[in-house]
Amino acid sequence: MIPVRGFEGKTVAVFGLARTGLAAARALQAGGAQVALWDERPAAREAAAAEGFELVDLNSADWWSFAALVLSPGVPLTHPTPHWTVERAKAAGVEIIGDIELFARAVNAAPEHKRPKVVAITGTNGKSTTTALIGHICAHAGRDTRIGGNIGYGVLGLDDMHGGAVYVLEVSSYQLDLTHSLKPDVSILLNITPDHLDRHGGMDGYVAAKRRVLLNQGKGDVAVIGVDDAYCQRICTEITAANRRTIVPISSSKAIGRGVYVLQGLLYDATGERAVEIADLLRARSLPGRHNWQNAAAAYAAARGLGLSAEEAAEGLMTFPGLAHRMETVGQVGRVRFVNDSKATNADAARQAMSSYPKFYWIAGGQAKAGGIESLTDLFPRIEKAYLIGEAAPVFADVLDGKAPVAECGTLERAVERAYADAAASGQDAVVLLSPACASFDQFADFEARGEAFRAAVQGLEAPVQKGARA
Ligand code: ADP
Repeated sequence: MIPVRGFEGKTVAVFGLARTGLAAARALQAGGAQVALWDERPAAREAAAAEGFELVDLNSADWWSFAALVLSPGVPLTHPTPHWTVERAKAAGVEIIGDIELFARAVNAAPEHKRPKVVAITGTNGKSTTTALIGHICAHAGRDTRIGGNIGYGVLGLDDMHGGAVYVLEVSSYQLDLTHSLKPDVSILLNITPDHLDRHGGMDGYVAAKRRVLLNQGKGDVAVIGVDDAYCQRICTEITAANRRTIVPISSSKAIGRGVYVLQGLLYDATGERAVEIADLLRARSLPGRHNWQNAAAAYAAARGLGLSAEEAAEGLMTFPGLAHRMETVGQVGRVRFVNDSKATNADAARQAMSSYPKFYWIAGGQAKAGGIESLTDLFPRIEKAYLIGEAAPVFADVLDGKAPVAECGTLERAVERAYADAAASGQDAVVLLSPACASFDQFADFEARGEAFRAAVQGLEAPVQKGARA
């Protein structure tokens, strides 16, 4: 745990008692603060009480007595409307922050010899993969590495810092909105496409939140920026003009001077006088597809920014084992391969997996996101048949009507059975792809649970062969 100081003898309200909220409460308490915890869900309150925390109903609390409100990133700060805790905090002049901000303050307060290196990664898609990849590269090179943040491990629950440690943090736009003093040694902005617009009041708010990962950086720091979309390209141009940090543009599709890029799978480092070929990503274990080339370019640039050699970085790229639920082959039955891309919770993420296979049996649906699947129309000819589940099924069926055969299946289990039956009957090598382009919450606790249900359904089919049998 990383104790958070600065609130000794004061009381900090913590609202939202999932993983990060409880880790923050423990860290604040360890640093000498009193904490007042609350959550609207009774089960979450019970879990906190069982740990011995004091629960304070923030509805009726004296807000003037709080030094800060630590808010869960899942709670609306501004849009669609500010949460009532936000209104109450503002009315009483209480600052509103998140767990990443507490971490940043702990790092900033550490004496020089205890100050670790911090890498912060954001973007619309690829954050977790890039975070895990950088974590792997650093650990493989023998660095004391901790990964955390939005990837699922509350940052304040990680081991306490020391001078040689590297913290690799995935930060979402929601977390960035609650973060003010983070000063990463390496910041990464991978890409920006429309997502979560309801929570940021539109595209401008979303871009502004993402951009906050570059805040506070100065001389000696490194900013790695994907330049394959117009939003990030603009940010890159603007900060190039304005700042003394080192800026490394990255691309997965075009050669760029003074940057890192990938052309047809070959990763080049052109940050020096001339471009040097570093790695053949087509031979990497777990970085298929152009989207992963973007992640690899960013991870390589970050590793170099942390002082690793090009060889160390390349070795880490080639040996990365990959993440569950991201284009993960979970089984092979006869000639049918099953790919779990449950993490693709929006159309843009699903596009990556769908672009990786010339033909596939597609399992999609769940809780629809704004924009639906219209933006994937160019990929519809690749769909052998779509097996639709969850709330979005009727809407997706309408969009696909006349463009691809559709079966409305209701549940994921039924979709797996029907897709397998059709794929096996084709008598050819085939891919059944779960890449839902939807949130999971209508039928599952989260995308992990959805991916595990897919894995279980595949294992339930006849004579499954070992995972990854045909990569
Ligand atoms: P995040 O943590 O940002 O949600 P993940 O690394 O978990 O991203 O990947 C989520 C999904 O997005 C995966 O299904 C993958 O196919 C797709 N994806 C991964 N990297 C990228 C990228 N650089 N650009 C676009 N899509 C990506």
